[in-house]
Amino acid sequence: MYLPGVGPKKADILKQELKIVSYEDLVYYFPYKYVDRSRIYAIREIDPSMQHIQLKGRIASLKTVGDGRTKRLSAVFTDETGSIELVWFKGLKFVKDSILPDQIYIVFGKPSVFNGVINIVHPELERFQENKPRIQAGFQPHYNTTEKMKSNFLNSKAIQKLVHNLFLSYNGKVPETLPASLIEKNKLMYLDEALRTIHFPQNLYNLDKARYRLKFEELFYIQLNILKLKTQRKLNIHGHVFSRVGEYLNRFYTDQLPFALTEAQKRVIREMRQDLGSGKQMNRLLQGDVGSGKTLVALMVMLIALDNNFQTCLMAPTEILATQHFETISKLIEPLNIKTALLTGSTKKSERDAIHAALRDGSMQILIGTHALIEETVIFNNLGLVIIDEQHRFGVEQRARLWKKNQNPPHVLVMTATPIPRTLAMTIYGDLDVSVIDELPPGRKPIQTLHYYHNKRNQLNKFLLQEINKGRQVYVVYPLIEESEKLDFKNLSEGYEYMQKAFPNYKTVMVHGRMKPSEKDEAMQEFSSGRAQIMVATTVIEVGVNVPNASVMVIESAERFGLSQLHQLRGRVGRGAEQSYCILMTSYKLAEETRKRMEIMVRTTDGFEIAEADMKIRGPGDLEGTQQSGLPFDLKIASLSKDGRILQMARDLAQEILNQDPTLEKPENQILTRQLTKLARAKLNWSMIS
Ligand code: ADP
Ligand code: MG
Repeated sequence: MYLPGVGPKKADILKQELKIVSYEDLVYYFPYKYVDRSRIYAIREIDPSMQHIQLKGRIASLKTVGDGRTKRLSAVFTDETGSIELVWFKGLKFVKDSILPDQIYIVFGKPSVFNGVINIVHPELERFQENKPRIQAGFQPHYNTTEKMKSNFLNSKAIQKLVHNLFLSYNGKVPETLPASLIEKNKLMYLDEALRTIHFPQNLYNLDKARYRLKFEELFYIQLNILKLKTQRKLNIHGHVFSRVGEYLNRFYTDQLPFALTEAQKRVIREMRQDLGSGKQMNRLLQGDVGSGKTLVALMVMLIALDNNFQTCLMAPTEILATQHFETISKLIEPLNIKTALLTGSTKKSERDAIHAALRDGSMQILIGTHALIEETVIFNNLGLVIIDEQHRFGVEQRARLWKKNQNPPHVLVMTATPIPRTLAMTIYGDLDVSVIDELPPGRKPIQTLHYYHNKRNQLNKFLLQEINKGRQVYVVYPLIEESEKLDFKNLSEGYEYMQKAFPNYKTVMVHGRMKPSEKDEAMQEFSSGRAQIMVATTVIEVGVNVPNASVMVIESAERFGLSQLHQLRGRVGRGAEQSYCILMTSYKLAEETRKRMEIMVRTTDGFEIAEADMKIRGPGDLEGTQQSGLPFDLKIASLSKDGRILQMARDLAQEILNQDPTLEKPENQILTRQLTKLARAKLNWSMIS
């Protein structure tokens, strides 16, 4: 409000529209592009194909011409090399009154051709005065503004002027926020210079240096924050020690294991055993593509917990998935006599009470379930290990609630099949150690992916019939998105009827989220037992469903799914020994971005490649997984898809500092603590990262 050019009204608009309430906010409101105003051209050089041109000269004459709709102000502008017409259709009086005779002006605008003559319509005019600094020599910054701002005289140029005024009236230097040693060692620009340069760069080289410095700082403090929390947790939390491998794991390994473990499975189990025996709390993310065998790994780690007389639980995002885990695991450990239960929203009261009691007295050893597990009423006797499947569906807070299920927090293993780009993982899960299963069990044939337009439906049906006749089963998935739920639901049920008619000799079932759990179960049972050959479903089957005999996945209106969701859905097939197929059905007219998505799906089955591509297309903010768990901060200048190298460097340097000084108490690190505290206050959300 006190900055020259603002005042109470504009201050209010800046606050409402951009959340700018302080000088600091304004200085950290960065331009999104720059226009080169460093060069002044001669009129003789003008070429109508130029995007912008800047000229210096005088207004030789000024007159109003035409009338009615063609009424306009026309000026002849001259320099030593020639003359050109400037034209205004709007604000004639204002322009006319503000132009002073016999003065030198800088003209800026886009040259255009009218009736074979070059002119400039609605140019910007700035009076040139020998001794006064020009606002926009060099590169002109452009700022994002809103309609409301524009209608209140706060367009990009106005913001530029405010920033300019601010720097003019501010005599000191903007206090530095990084330690001098870090700046010098890494040849970073100092903050004061970087901030001035990011708004008013004199050349591209300096602009690059300024951007680099500001990106580095942004990523550095995020990493320092996460790594500090991680370091402190390691120092402060005494983890339950699982020192023994006993009866349960040994018997399972020798008698029950249905196949040889892959090398990758063995490696991640080793990594976890190391954590579990270390006396530190395990906080590990297990990444493995769909079908890579994470469940088995989870089970074996759970058995280690049992071998050390601890209880353990496995939490899944949906009832279907929890039930399936319960069935798979119960079957695998049947002869071991382990007390295991399933707890979901639809567990009956009497059964629920019995489970609660058995958890409290310690007789219940393994609990599998949905969110129902984190309710306050669920109290364990001695919970040692928590496993969370398909992490992207859970918020970070829910993770934290599980921690509290034992006085001394249990070990935590988070499993995800949504491969996330490395930079995003470092940021959202930066406090977790990471294990990766990068190998599929042997004998899997890569899934073939085809992209069909709707007009190929007959061909599709022929193909499906051929596969079903071979004894295979088929999924047909429809999008169901909340905003248009009614319409989508119609598509789904019509699709169901259509399949019933098209395949009268076979059985089709339908599954969607609005069915009663018992109906859902029944349909799932029909399909997984093989009595039904076709399942028409919404994305409720996206996560975790495992029917190895299903070998064809048809995705209807595939254009409406994001890449990672398509990849998840595709992962429902290719689980048996048969050749599997994924068929993407779309309309013929597709947006460029959608076409790209389909191409990527057809080209690769590598989840990490898909995740990277997804981030490039959509930017990290929109990625699935980040929506649910929420990117806990806005990045002002750095980009997780483009600045991977800077991020890695920032993380390494933050780690290096913490290795020397885990609590950041040394005098030279005071500045870091101060800055972390300040950022934590500004972004309350920050604690969400941990
Ligand atoms: P995800 O990692 O997607 O959760 P699952 O744990 O559901 O994968 O495993 C997918 C399928 O692979 C299951 O049918 C499982 O029994 C099988 N499987 C797991 N590990 C192996 C292995 N080492 N060899 C052969 N098949 C395996
Ligand atoms: Mg799984």
